[in-house]
Amino acid sequence: MSASIGSRPVTRRRFLRDTGLSLGAAALASIPGTALAGKSMRKVYRLSNRGRVSCNACRAHDANRFYFNRPSAEGDRAHAGCTCKVLKQWIPKATHEAYFGHGHEKRKVFDLRSQEEEA
Ligand SMILES: [Zn+2]
Repeated sequence: MSASIGSRPVTRRRFLRDTGLSLGAAALASIPGTALAGKSMRKVYRLSNRGRVSCNACRAHDANRFYFNRPSAEGDRAHAGCTCKVLKQWIPKATHEAYFGHGHEKRKVFDLRSQEEEA
């Protein structure tokens, strides 16, 4: 007996498979380098009459004024002949920005009394 094997045309079938690949929830949270711990404090300059014979003008002036840099402090005496020292002080970054602004909005001197007047 002979078996006849019919030749069938090969049907190419494309199987679209769902690979099930999932991108998942990629954590894309980025942390700016400037927000790292240790960078949260900013330097300011103050005039100080500590240890000196000071007048009321200097005491009030020194207690209320913060300076963005040393020259600003040196050039902003309560009166001619003032011998107050310029000291560095560290304040929180947020406070610094509240006092001096940021970017191109920077001011060089901030007086706590101006805050009270505006409030
Ligand atoms: Zn002074």
